[in-house]
Amino acid sequence: MAVIAGVTTVFGLVLTLSPGSDVEAQRISSQLDLDSGELRPALSALAVEAMAAEEQEQATPLFTVEEQQRAARIAAAAPSRANIADQQLVTDNQQQKPPVEEVTAPPEPQLTEKTFEVKAGDTLSRLFSRAGLNDSAMYQVLRGEGLSDQLGRLRQGQQIDFVLNEEGQLQQLTLHQNRTKKLQANLGEEGFKTTEVSREPDIILAFAGGEIESSFALSARRAGLNNRLSSNLASIFGWQIDFGRDLRRGDRFSVLYEELHVDGEKVGYGRILSANFHNRGKNLTAILFTNSEGHSEYFAPDGTSLRKAFIRTPLEYSRISSRFDPQRRHPILNRVRPHQGTDFAAPTGTPVRAAGDGRVRHARRDGGYGRTIRIQHGNGVETVYAHLNGYASGIQEGGRVRQGQVIGYVGMSGMATGPHLHYEYRQHGQPRDPMRVALPDADPVPKEQMTAFQTQSQPLMAQLATRDESFQVAMAEE
Ligand SMILES: [Zn+2]
Repeated sequence: MAVIAGVTTVFGLVLTLSPGSDVEAQRISSQLDLDSGELRPALSALAVEAMAAEEQEQATPLFTVEEQQRAARIAAAAPSRANIADQQLVTDNQQQKPPVEEVTAPPEPQLTEKTFEVKAGDTLSRLFSRAGLNDSAMYQVLRGEGLSDQLGRLRQGQQIDFVLNEEGQLQQLTLHQNRTKKLQANLGEEGFKTTEVSREPDIILAFAGGEIESSFALSARRAGLNNRLSSNLASIFGWQIDFGRDLRRGDRFSVLYEELHVDGEKVGYGRILSANFHNRGKNLTAILFTNSEGHSEYFAPDGTSLRKAFIRTPLEYSRISSRFDPQRRHPILNRVRPHQGTDFAAPTGTPVRAAGDGRVRHARRDGGYGRTIRIQHGNGVETVYAHLNGYASGIQEGGRVRQGQVIGYVGMSGMATGPHLHYEYRQHGQPRDPMRVALPDADPVPKEQMTAFQTQSQPLMAQLATRDESFQVAMAEE
């Protein structure tokens, strides 16, 4: 309590002694006008007075920036007697040129900005004093509305801006938390209000091109792609090209991707929008298409999908511990019992992914299979995932899943000698070897979205081709 009382006293003193106390008095009077409903004419008249004064002798503005701007807004909007009165007032002063625009424009505020970088050990109080402000100014901000409590959370290297009026009073405080977020305290009629201002980074189309000399990873890095973009590129073409075995020296790639910029500086990477891969004389192109439901996927220029409807293995890293074998002797039952799927050995808890888009038909215990998920796909295909340790959250019978979505975790529930995934691929009820079955292509762009696809894809392909051409020219000249 003592502290607060002390602060109040200091604050009171500042108000009384400050050269800006006139401003305070004016503000109180306009608030009174507001209460009586007579704000418009009162403020407009004040604004005109202020402008007349400035024209004559560049006098100190009598009003806060906010009051002036508000007066100007009101004057501009009001078609009423206030405006007529304004015009007459000015015409009286300056007979020869009475343009209305000049009457309604507020005088230029005389504001100073002071910017500091937060150094180790800095406190808000220390930064205020560096800006020539005392603690009472700081408490005024901290006691204000909004997110003011967050202003005290300073981190080394952040930037803080103070905007002061001619009397050296704080009008605005900005703490730049990072490149895209800042906290801003603005002085309004009821004191300071702190809000978070965030900005979207600018998206700039960037191009990278490269030729493979020793490894794809190295060439991609040399071309300027970060790890995420180069692995994205590999997964886009991973259905057609085996990046472990198929690449040859002299293979080429070119990529059109998004770069995120703030104030002209790169702050991150976005998505790959289109890409080309030239592998052993075969040329592949991928274009990102976002359909009407907002789902994005890569397609070839003719609208066919670049991916298969199924991934070959539902585990990212695994080892095949038992193959599909219609004649197998069962390890526990010790009699011939066909092995209708492929077993992948993996540690308990390894994520299991849906092999394709589909609907969960079954997600519960199933005898010797233990915890099992069965997914129904199109064209009579069903995939089965057995011996799970558990189900991923959100997985329920009847629910939809997308290819690659985590649906459960490896375990050894049911009849199993160790943690592994038993995976089956069934077509019209018949088990097929998951490692050999010919996988169908994923669905192409639907007919009714073909026009939208072309609208999106054509400019991207044109850009990629143009940039690739100049890149090839530059390479040849080197
Ligand atoms: Zn098995």
